[in-house]
Amino acid sequence: MSGSTEALYREHPYATAFDATVVGVDDNGIVLDRSLFYPQGGGQPGDAGVLVTADGTRIAIDDTRYDAAGDIRHRPAPDAPRPAEGERVSGTIDWALRYPRMRIHTCLHLLSVAIPAPVTGGSIGDGHGRLDFDLPESTLEREAVTATLNELIAADHPVTTEWITQAELDARPELVKTLSVQPPRTGGPVRLVRIGAIDLQPCGGTHVAATAEIGRVRVRKIEKKSRHNRRVSIVLED
Ligand SMILES: [Zn+2]
Repeated sequence: MSGSTEALYREHPYATAFDATVVGVDDNGIVLDRSLFYPQGGGQPGDAGVLVTADGTRIAIDDTRYDAAGDIRHRPAPDAPRPAEGERVSGTIDWALRYPRMRIHTCLHLLSVAIPAPVTGGSIGDGHGRLDFDLPESTLEREAVTATLNELIAADHPVTTEWITQAELDARPELVKTLSVQPPRTGGPVRLVRIGAIDLQPCGGTHVAATAEIGRVRVRKIEKKSRHNRRVSIVLED
């Protein structure tokens, strides 16, 4: 996305508070010059939290989305006051929501390692998540996938990011595991997420710094959604 909002969450996934200036307000939400709020994307829900103006007015934020221009829209609660353009605000994200999403999101990368098949979809809920795989004949076993995931988690692989050009990504199509959810083509640099020596793929989401932070997980169910589609759902054990 190429909007005007500086996406602070990319470089600072563990930061929860920031200061910003309001650059736009309308029915679609509040645009800031910079933000830690993650906008819904890649199966990960948008962040919630609060903005506080200089005079102490609290603006509850229910959800965060990209708009068509690529700006990040902070969606206030229906009854929340609206700030004025140019106003300074302090923002805080709801970490109790965000952190489990970071753990699940990172675990879904590991799931794509445990099950080396094309990914056709996925989503992240609160404390749980799922990926859909293009697998015609299922030989997946719930206990076996759970054991593989927990081994990968316990190995505490570091999670890091790097950037490549769109042309470099086009030259390495094997990096893209998702068939239906291609990373957005902005023409600009593409962010890759690397997990130790086991996974490397384009992703704009928020991740934990090392896999042990995910904690123990369990494969809740493996469903046959269609002849080719196997849906694998995971849940955090705590
Ligand atoms: Zn990711």
